[in-house]
Amino acid sequence: MAFADRLVAVRRSHGLTQEELASKLYVTRQAVSRWERGEVTPGIDMMKLVAAVTGEPLSHLLEMPEHYCESCGMYLTPADLGTDADGEKNDHYCKWCYDGGHYTYE
Ligand SMILES: [Zn+2]
Repeated sequence: MAFADRLVAVRRSHGLTQEELASKLYVTRQAVSRWERGEVTPGIDMMKLVAAVTGEPLSHLLEMPEHYCESCGMYLTPADLGTDADGEKNDHYCKWCYDGGHYTYE
């Protein structure tokens, strides 16, 4: 899914209009509208701001997710993701730090 589609989904899931999101970001509604139509992709700083004001993880907004393990800081690829107790991938930690719902160093 492209950033434009993600942005629309995130904005709607937070019940925000384009105008409301724009005012939180200190940009014009037209800017938000252009992002959502995919005419313009905002820079990483703006994406971080979108993540901050919506509470959405930045990785959910990015087309190419960039995950870094929050424990050791290594770059995470899908194959390196740790797992929760239920076997679901956990996109905060690598499998060497977090496995099966436990921190491996505990
Ligand atoms: Zn790690």
